[in-house]
Amino acid sequence: MSHLRPAPRATERLAQASADFESKLAQTQDVLSTASREHAAIKQASSLGAEDVVISHLLAELKLPITVFVLDTGALHHQTLALLERQQATKRWVIEVHRPESAQVIEWVARHGQLAIYDHMALRKDCCRLRKLEPLAQALQGQTAWITGLRREQSEARADVPLVDHSETGTTGRTKYNPLASWTWGDVWHFIAREQIDYNPLHDDFYPSIGCAPCTRAISMGEPFRAGRWWWEDESAKECGLHVRAA
Ligand code: SF4
Repeated sequence: MSHLRPAPRATERLAQASADFESKLAQTQDVLSTASREHAAIKQASSLGAEDVVISHLLAELKLPITVFVLDTGALHHQTLALLERQQATKRWVIEVHRPESAQVIEWVARHGQLAIYDHMALRKDCCRLRKLEPLAQALQGQTAWITGLRREQSEARADVPLVDHSETGTTGRTKYNPLASWTWGDVWHFIAREQIDYNPLHDDFYPSIGCAPCTRAISMGEPFRAGRWWWEDESAKECGLHVRAA
């Protein structure tokens, strides 16, 4: 008989509210309400990660008419797809799923091979372009604003993420709202535990940041938050282009 105890769930391990959590929550609710009031054409981009399930939950609680969209790259973990199905079944949100052109994906894989993303950064970025950036552009067509789960604590590249980001307005005409910008990872899990929000079980298995299956691994104690994303590349390259800010 085994005496191994299962690892604690992410909600048990990670929930730890900041001293000023309630004021951060009020600020987040205010940002979301203001965004909804100021933009008729606005959507939430959801990766179905912890931050995004928090935001979707708040949209439903606040009864804001904001559509949620998910980019199904064709390479997501089955746990992520199962969470998407559960969310759709609740009917709490209008959820759009945007996918890449399957003919283009088939042609890309036939030309470069499944493993090319590990050998050439340019091809990895090209895969992100095809499977993420093009469906993202489709999802955001006609929108004047979008909502993301970016937090300052996630990486050095995100350390100055503002609650309301106008840096894209010159190029895309869109405002980006980051209502969790000041939340800690402990705040996120405190809220998920308190509100009993359904989440991706990969978080229980030490995946803090979840993307496509071939490009995401669990992290070890002490590793940076995004160490499991494109782990074979330099730290400075660890974005897929979705959140590159204009200078
Ligand atoms: S994260 Fe990996 S599999 Fe997903 S689109 Fe980018 S390179 Fe392709």
